[in-house]
Amino acid sequence: MSAAGPRAPRDHPATVEVNGRSYRWPARPLVVVCVDGCEPDYVNQAITAGAAPWMAALDGRGTCLTVDCVVPSFTNPNNLSIVTGAPPSVHGICGNYFFDSEARAEVMMNDPKYLRAGTILAAFADAGAKVAVVTAKDKLRALLGHRLKGICFSSEHADRVTLAANGVDDALALTGMPVPPVYSAELSEFVFAAGCALLERERPDIMYLSTTDYVQHKHAPGTAAANAFTGMLDRYLARMDAAGATVVVTADHGMNAKTDAFGRPNIVFLQDLLDAAYGDGATRVILPITDPYVVHHGALGSFATVYVSERLALADVRERIAALAGVELVLPRAEAAARFELPQNRIGDLVVVSERLTVIGTCRTRHDLSGLDAPLRSHGGTSEQRVPLIANRPAPDLPARRWRNFDAFDLALNHLA
Ligand SMILES: [Zn+2]
Repeated sequence: MSAAGPRAPRDHPATVEVNGRSYRWPARPLVVVCVDGCEPDYVNQAITAGAAPWMAALDGRGTCLTVDCVVPSFTNPNNLSIVTGAPPSVHGICGNYFFDSEARAEVMMNDPKYLRAGTILAAFADAGAKVAVVTAKDKLRALLGHRLKGICFSSEHADRVTLAANGVDDALALTGMPVPPVYSAELSEFVFAAGCALLERERPDIMYLSTTDYVQHKHAPGTAAANAFTGMLDRYLARMDAAGATVVVTADHGMNAKTDAFGRPNIVFLQDLLDAAYGDGATRVILPITDPYVVHHGALGSFATVYVSERLALADVRERIAALAGVELVLPRAEAAARFELPQNRIGDLVVVSERLTVIGTCRTRHDLSGLDAPLRSHGGTSEQRVPLIANRPAPDLPARRWRNFDAFDLALNHLA
């Protein structure tokens, strides 16, 4: 490995401050991995099946915490929380999709103009660190790479990189893999293959790798396909460990079956129910899981926000939703913002969370379930809040507190031996 020799010393600060938190300069290359939809049992089952020997061997030499992600337990809010070290109330990204009340329009939230805080990645790069980011879907790339002077590209568009836009011009040659289909396990494998090649060739100080949950939406923990995916992950993590990196693995959210005992989806079509009760146009149900890639979940998750016309009594609407089978929690805006650390002006008058086996839809006619070729699995609620936070080094003096997935950089840089 050509880059493994001694490095020229560079001037750098002892710590970097980002969003009110302080991070020590990495003593060795740091790789933080966000495995999309990695409910802790995926790792547990793969280890039991003998498919993840590297992770199994961390018991005794590494760190293993079970921590809370951000609710809504969706991809973008959690990836942005991890790279900013802060909840959505600070960075502003509280869904993939929202109702922009200034623009009076329902829009995707993947434009960096919605980001209200800087990232740890950009701050370290500004302080002189070499930083690299690889993400599976291109929808996250612009947010993760916001104001980042370094390498940043997606597997999805690995054939379109330029040195000027992505900090690298040979993303495809790095892996020897073709550009994978957007709905595939290979889209995530490409992230790890590229990450390993970058680690060995470029020796970045900090690298962030983020996958897609296509496999987790289709396959439960312990199934052959799930164990094969975790086994693939395990082999790449072992390679990064062998290259001398600190490796920290967490997830953006968990994943659960959202079906009845026959495997049929449990769906509360909330807009249909509210339209029937209050008339068309009196309420607006927003599903922040909505994104352009819906084949594997039909845009159905366990979290919704509802805008309610001023002519309706909010308490009445709240009561009606709370009485629905499968609904776990209905909170008014201020209470939801405080409990889930969300930006008040980007959520509706009510926040609705469904229970573990149930998802929330808008209208029956607006969800295309024809792409679902397996029983529905999804996320979004508090039932998918527990995720792993794993490291390949011990943390001897870990403070007792509520650890979060967005403490991944704090754990890595401030607490690992
Ligand atoms: Zn996700």
